[in-house]
Parts: sequence; C-alpha cells; structure tokens
Amino acid sequence: MKYRTILLFGAPGSGKGTQGKILGNIPGFWHCACGDVFRSLDPQSPLGEAFLKYSSRGELVPDDLTVSLWAEQLAKVEASGRVSAESDILVLDGIPRNLPQAKILAEKLDIRHVYHLSCPDRVKLVARLKRRALKDNRLDDANEQVITQRLLTYEEETKPVLDFFGEKMTTHVDALQSPYQVLRDILKTLDF
Ligand code: ADP
Repeated sequence: MKYRTILLFGAPGSGKGTQGKILGNIPGFWHCACGDVFRSLDPQSPLGEAFLKYSSRGELVPDDLTVSLWAEQLAKVEASGRVSAESDILVLDGIPRNLPQAKILAEKLDIRHVYHLSCPDRVKLVARLKRRALKDNRLDDANEQVITQRLLTYEEETKPVLDFFGEKMTTHVDALQSPYQVLRDILKTLDF
C-alpha cells in the first residue's frame, strides 16, 4: 500500500515548514521536511558534508543522495512503529524539488494534492529569509548571494514540478496571508 500524501510546495521562505509543523501535529498526519532531515545529519559525515557544500551555494543536493536519505528516514520511522501507510498521511515539505524527484516520488507514493504556497513578491521572500537566518541560525539564509541563487534554483528547477502534477491536483494559496489564514485555506480543500 502506498502512502496517501500531500505536498507543501513553494519558494524558500513561503512558509512550507510552518504549515507542515501544524499539519504534522494532527493525529494521523506525519510531516517530513527534507531540509530538516539534511540539517540533522552529522556535518562531518560524507552526506552531511555534501549537504553543506550544496546548500551553502543555494544549490540542490544531488537527487540520488536526496531520495535515498528521504527513503531511509521514512523507513526508520516506519520501523519504529510511529508511522504506517495504512493509518497515516504524509505531509511532504521540500521534496520533490525537481522533475526527476517528482517522477520517483509519484511512483512510490499516492500523491493526492499539492498545496502551492504562492508568493510572487521576491522582496518579501528575501525579507522573510533574512529574518529566519537570525532566528534559526541558517547559514543558507544569511547571505544575499545565496538567497538569490536559492530563488533562482526554485524558479528554474523546482517550479516545473507544478506542471508535472497539473492544475487539477493543485491548490494555490496566497502565502502572504497570516499562518492561520494559510492553514485555513489548506484545510478547506483537504479531503481524506
Ligand atoms: P527552505 O525551507 O528554504 O525551502 P529547506 O530547508 O527545505 O529550505 O532546504 C535547504 C537546502 O537543503 C536546500 O537549499 C537544498 O540545498 C537542500 N535540499 C532540501 N531539500 C532538497 C531536495 N528535495 N533536493 C535537493 N536538495 C534539497
């Protein structure tokens, strides 16, 4: 049985993590943030080193490393008995981030819906990322050049994933609303 899955999709700073944490607190929902899995790695390990190398440039970590790390993380929580495909809905945040990843995950999972947290205002995104850099000590948010590269990577590599899943599966949510309003818009169309 494949996991019923929803995707939180959007540019860096659009609020995927904020919404993912809230949704992940609902019993029967499990939130997995790909960036958090990377950040939990030992920075001295080969994978941790690879993550730092790519993320500090605003680039994506190669797909083979990313997908295998994500699958391992899922297998780990499954083995611990915390999550199962029968009873839980996956809330993915930060993966898939390009077309090859989207194709792999579409095979493995029963992807039901994509929530696009849409924020066409780049200036606002940059301001959010800079605030987060201070609050969460995120190296990749601290430097303007890295932020610019991350937004470019999003436009070029990540955004085409929206076309892959198509309009019928997608709900566009105005990411500039308050977290409560964004949540309300997501919950309105959530249907399991
Ligand atoms: P944000 O919350 O700003 O969208 P994340 O915390 O999700 O950022 O990701 C931080 C960095 O981790 C990315 O810039 C990228 O280098 C790496 N990363 C996270 N998810 C993926 C992924 N699915 N594929 C490749 N790299 C990823």
